[in-house]
Amino acid sequence: MLRVVIVGATGRMGRTLVSCARQMSGLTVTGAIDRPDSPAIGRDVGELAGIGALGVTVGSKLAAVLDGADVVVDFSDPASTAGHLAACAAARVALLVGTTGLAPEIEQQAMQAAAHAPVLIAANTSLGVTLLTALVRECARLLPTDFDIEIVEAHHRHKKDAPSGTALALGRAAAEGRGIDFGQAAVAGRAGVAPRRSGEIGFAVVRGGDIVGEHDVIFAGTAEKITLSHQASDRAVFARGALEAARWLAAQPAGRYCMSDFISIKT
Ligand code: NAD
Repeated sequence: MLRVVIVGATGRMGRTLVSCARQMSGLTVTGAIDRPDSPAIGRDVGELAGIGALGVTVGSKLAAVLDGADVVVDFSDPASTAGHLAACAAARVALLVGTTGLAPEIEQQAMQAAAHAPVLIAANTSLGVTLLTALVRECARLLPTDFDIEIVEAHHRHKKDAPSGTALALGRAAAEGRGIDFGQAAVAGRAGVAPRRSGEIGFAVVRGGDIVGEHDVIFAGTAEKITLSHQASDRAVFARGALEAARWLAAQPAGRYCMSDFISIKT
């Protein structure tokens, strides 16, 4: 039985993870962590997820629940990611980070942690977006450079980061495929800006209602346009993908992984 600790356990994704874990075989939630000032501290995480008591209470100290854990699944807040990496590295426990809006320096900290434990960071843990990312890279590689690349994403009104981590990851894949520098090419928002510069990768953001997650990658040429599109209508696609990837990750040696490592092994 795989013993899973959920970080951000009482958030939208945390509750979905707890509920999906219950429906998956060979997997059990043994720890639930949220921020120290959360009103959920001390309450049963199953009750908070609406699936009945699991006998696991929400705590705030990750290190305290790592003894005996196989993998940590973190969908919380980017300010806490460095601490979670350090705690998992010290305990030699696998860590899957689904949190987005991570600071650039996290990559270096992830590499340090990956010397001691398996670490997977994914802005999107759905199977569909993992495949979409590969398709975007390939499309950008194959199409002539006069096909302009634009990315449009839509999410619910509570989302904290913009553009979404998934949109940025899709943009990076497009830049890789085209062989250009993502930092130079990315343009987020065009209010009051003059016409498009050649080679830009543009981002447009929609926020509203309860939209779970939508991403369109547009390759706009002259008199023709290709749009690669993904729409998630239920958070469970991210939760199930994360838990399946976590199951795989827990069996890997220490190292730095991404979703495409998991998918290619699986297929
Ligand atoms: P949310 O705000 O509903 O939940 C976040 C939870 O983390 C809250 O319960 C909050 O109290 C908790 N938290 C905050 N600081 C913490 C800390 N220091 N330690 C432990 N817990 C802490 O947000 P959400 O919609 O559940 O999304 C969470 C994160 O996951 C966001 O970054 C979001 O963009 C990302 N996300 C990723 C994917 C993916 O596929 N990778 C999918 C959906 C959301």
